[in-house]
Amino acid sequence: MKVVETIEGIRKEIEIAKSTGQSIGFVPTMGYLHEGHLSLINAAKKDHQFVVVSIFVNPLQFGPNEDLDRYPRDFERDEKMAREAGADVVFYPSANEMYPTNMPMMIHVTSGVHVLCGTSRPGHFDGVATVVMKLLQIVQPHAAYFGQKDAQQLAIIMNMVDAFNIPVTIKGCPTIREEDGLAKSSRNVYLSKQERSEAPFLYEALCYGADLIRSGMTSRSKIVDELKQRLSQGSGSIDYIDVLAYPSLERVEQLNGKVILALAYAYDKARLIDNYIVEVQGEK
Ligand code: AMP
Repeated sequence: MKVVETIEGIRKEIEIAKSTGQSIGFVPTMGYLHEGHLSLINAAKKDHQFVVVSIFVNPLQFGPNEDLDRYPRDFERDEKMAREAGADVVFYPSANEMYPTNMPMMIHVTSGVHVLCGTSRPGHFDGVATVVMKLLQIVQPHAAYFGQKDAQQLAIIMNMVDAFNIPVTIKGCPTIREEDGLAKSSRNVYLSKQERSEAPFLYEALCYGADLIRSGMTSRSKIVDELKQRLSQGSGSIDYIDVLAYPSLERVEQLNGKVILALAYAYDKARLIDNYIVEVQGEK
């Protein structure tokens, strides 16, 4: 496995792979890899001969008071994990390589951003869309793999690819969890011992909400209230909890069809997100 730090270098690698008829699968990440990332690499490997993993902590998607400086990094460990997972090349650019000058323009996301992380992290998805657009132009893969854990991000990227006619297939992959249900996340290392032992209650709350829906509760506000009550028993604070139509992410009071229960919960040094997609069975 090669590590390439320049845009010119990664383009060369891909050109060679394409010239020998290999198809390219791409897994963009911010590093500090865990089994969630590895599942994306595995999915890409199943479908493609040549797998590119990018590791880049994108400053554009962090707000002024967010955790850009504290975001966990360990390139040596990431390199080893990517190699063992069977990646062919890791693209590891510096911020200066990606953004040599102040960006003269950015993608501005106008749809699907008035809910969930879009409201609690203003500008976040503009930064995500901009870096993903750049990475897709640089790598030009046949398919790119994203986790369902970041469901809003996945929906926005699918919209972007559609809106700009980017010739790539976007694949959404299931959320990988710890044995106790906590969604794997690079930020989990910042949980205190006590927070880590409590944190599985987030997924439990989502499962409980999904059960309420399965058993016939279709009032959005009732479900949100139930979940708020559960989450209020934790030691952190609720950033948001919502139930929305999926994949449109529209807020409707009377739920029907596919819906997403999604939450963000702030512990002392880590803000965690998770979600659960469920089909409304019928009304009671
Ligand atoms: P990140 O490095 O956190 O930006 O994530 C890179 C990619 O991995 C994104 O597409 C995420 O949605 C995905 N991802 C992160 N955590 C998980 C997880 N627990 N299961 C599956 N995919 C994940």
